Amino acid sequence: MKDFLIIGQGVVGSFLAWELLKRDKQISIVDDGHKHSSSMVSAGIINPVIGKRFTIADGFDHFFAHALKTYQELETQFDQHFFESLPILRVFQDAREHDQWQRRVKLNEGQQYSQPINPSRTVHAAINDPLGSVVIKSSGFCHTERLLTTLKAYFHNRNVLALQKFSYDDLTIKDNNVCFGGESFRTVIFCEGYKAQWNPWFDWIPFNSAKGEILKIKIEGPKLPHMIINRGKWCIPLEQPQWIAGANYQWDQLDCEPTEAARDQIVAGLNQCFTNTIEVTDHKAGVRPVIKDQKAILGRHPKIKNLAIFNGLGSKGFLMTPFYASHFADYLSGVSLLNEGVTLERFNRGND
Ligand SMILES: Cc1cc2nc3c(=O)[nH]c(=O)nc-3n(C[C@H](O)[C@H](O)[C@H](O)COP(=O)(O)OP(=O)(O)OC[C@H]3O[C@@H](n4cnc5c(N)ncnc54)[C@H](O)[C@@H]3O)c2cc1C
Repeated sequence: MKDFLIIGQGVVGSFLAWELLKRDKQISIVDDGHKHSSSMVSAGIINPVIGKRFTIADGFDHFFAHALKTYQELETQFDQHFFESLPILRVFQDAREHDQWQRRVKLNEGQQYSQPINPSRTVHAAINDPLGSVVIKSSGFCHTERLLTTLKAYFHNRNVLALQKFSYDDLTIKDNNVCFGGESFRTVIFCEGYKAQWNPWFDWIPFNSAKGEILKIKIEGPKLPHMIINRGKWCIPLEQPQWIAGANYQWDQLDCEPTEAARDQIVAGLNQCFTNTIEVTDHKAGVRPVIKDQKAILGRHPKIKNLAIFNGLGSKGFLMTPFYASHFADYLSGVSLLNEGVTLERFNRGND
């Protein structure tokens, strides 16, 4: 009997598999070739200061330190570059944003992650910043596709990855194990991303997933600063003149189809920030797996202990997954308990 069957090879399933293999566990992973993968679409931005209110991400330093350590470990193992450390230029969109940031500064919040405010037109001639901007530090982005395909090849070579669609009916649940594909496992761990909201054993977890779209663009014209530039919509520099740009949030149509409306919205947002010419070269959509209370969720099913879930990373998958994967692997190996804030107990209504 093997130890764990992991459903899904997004960032969550991949990092969990990586941590379990490090602990010498016997695993198998099933993935449908990233057909519904948020991780492959994602920009992978890591940012300590979030949203219009410049909220400081809870526990950022702890998650960031763990993420950096894990990305370095993977970079050494695979001789590849996955994490790009890069400041974020936050251009104030309106007086409200400007005032909000000044309030944060007065309260001594966020200063460790930022430089003093840049007055208008002092950063770069091409940037339209009538209210100025602020540079955010301790930030960057992950080369998500490169990371996921490298791990996919690694799991494939270790003979632990099956590329196929998983169907709930194919799982036989017994008292002390589960059977799938002619093999038995002590535990199955669902890392299905937003698809988990239709999982018959975990459909009582309140999801509030959000579709998002991303563009690959070429930016021609005056050379822009080599930073992630954000004025409501953002863009990330790749090999010039290529950039990645995004994103939008949509809650009522959870599919992976790119739309013209979102593309136009992202391009219009960037056009407000600079006058350079933008050419869209690629366009993708995915769904961020979000739980209603915006926290990760990990643990075993309250009644069927050989079923487990790891999900809900929302917009912070590339910041928080490295820590939670290691934390969950310790728990699954019987080494430690789970942090209370992320367990299923907060929603457990005695379901079976
Ligand atoms: C537009 C957009 C922008 C984003 N930007 C950022 C960002 O800048 N920074 C950040 O940290 N996060 C960002 N995110 C969020 C991030 O992508 C997620 O937090 C993360 O990818 C979630 O990973 P996951 O492994 O839980 O889900 P997924 O990546 O969706 O992985 C689930 C996997 O399970 C597979 N699967 C599901 N069901 C089955 C089945 N029945 N059989 C076989 N395989 C199955 C799927 O195909 C997929 O490969 C963004 C997301 C989107 C959509």
